Amino acid sequence: MVTKKTKINCQKCKDRGCLEDNILCDCRIKLYKYARYHEAAIPKIYWDVSFNSFMTAKKRDNMFLQKLLKLTETNLDQLNLGFFGSSQTGKSTTAAIIAKKILDDSLLSVYWFNYATLLYSLRRRFNDSAIDCQLDYSLKADLIIIDDLGRDYAVNKLFAKAEVTRIFQEIFESTRSIIVTSNFFVTDLESFFDSKFNSLISLNLRLVNFKR
Ligand SMILES: [Zn+2]
Repeated sequence: MVTKKTKINCQKCKDRGCLEDNILCDCRIKLYKYARYHEAAIPKIYWDVSFNSFMTAKKRDNMFLQKLLKLTETNLDQLNLGFFGSSQTGKSTTAAIIAKKILDDSLLSVYWFNYATLLYSLRRRFNDSAIDCQLDYSLKADLIIIDDLGRDYAVNKLFAKAEVTRIFQEIFESTRSIIVTSNFFVTDLESFFDSKFNSLISLNLRLVNFKR
């Protein structure tokens, strides 16, 4: 009879998860981090993206993200950021790197929303008058990320405008924070929302333009 050998993934701790003196092995720490990212709904494609690998890939000026990361250390209250610019410029990746850093270094809660999915959930809750505890809970995270803010044909424009304005207003009036990414420029957003929404985000978000 042939017994199948189980593959050992971590040579350092032989998959025990800890080293001598009960020190956690890096592989176990990584698993705990992944659990936090999963809970925060950060898309899996960003879980392993590090600050350094991103910098090398994008050939960016190191100071750029360094400055943004520095902001997360000084005062997280109302770290309201708006990342604007064309697609494939690293806006979502930068948001993910910041979100992961906050999760790694603190006990604060983070929740990642894709804009279209968020609207869909809000719409469903409105239509069914259903109580969506998960949605309310997620919207109350210390930091929420709204990825890909923009036009959405699937949802009534007035509804989207009212709900999204309300969410932003609530966050700006609290000590919680928001990071928004969008392929549109702030001036373009006015046509999907309105001038009131535009001045709201222009006044309250630290705007960063991403360029290729
Ligand atoms: Zn290990």
